Amino acid sequence: MHKDVAKVLFSAEDIEKRCLEMATKISEDYKDDPPIVVGLLKGCIPFMWELIKRIDINIEIEYMDVTSYEGSESTGDVKILKDLDRSIIGRHILLVEDIIDTGRTLKKVTELLASKGAKSVKIATLLDKPSRRVVKIDGDYVGFEIPNEFVIGFGLDFNQKYRNLPYVGVLKEELYKE
Ligand code: IMP
Ligand code: MG
Repeated sequence: MHKDVAKVLFSAEDIEKRCLEMATKISEDYKDDPPIVVGLLKGCIPFMWELIKRIDINIEIEYMDVTSYEGSESTGDVKILKDLDRSIIGRHILLVEDIIDTGRTLKKVTELLASKGAKSVKIATLLDKPSRRVVKIDGDYVGFEIPNEFVIGFGLDFNQKYRNLPYVGVLKEELYKE
């Protein structure tokens, strides 16, 4: 285990097992009209791969980059760093995100994609921290619910580090609290 990790919450095996369940449900739900799967960079990458390789319908893949975070706190101001570069009119969209925390990021992105003419916008997230929600939004496919702890690994970062850890762990408090 990495020295900055207080405890491991979900191992690679836990995540792979859950991704198979989620992907099976997604394949079934969208079998008649496969979605454009839109990953939110950069945190979605490890989870998105575990998920999409188990989806067995003809999805398409796109990426967006938005940000609302500095360090460990949401600023509430969501910026679009990379927008979609194709039309999504009349298409189902499945957003893939690492975690829903305050919900501000996904609320904003969901509204944006709906305003661009998507037929539907749903959310697949590896983690959900419902106790932190500030705006009303729910994940449609949720890997795991977690308590209010700052987590890293499997795409999740603290100041852009730890995304490459092959598990989700809790960051030691002394590293982000003064
Ligand atoms: P929201 O807009 O507050 O829901 O924030 C979502 C974004 O905040 C996620 O995409 C993450 O980048 C970041 N985030 C929220 N909680 C954590 C955490 O515990 N660890 C790492 N990043 C987090
Ligand atoms: Mg993120």
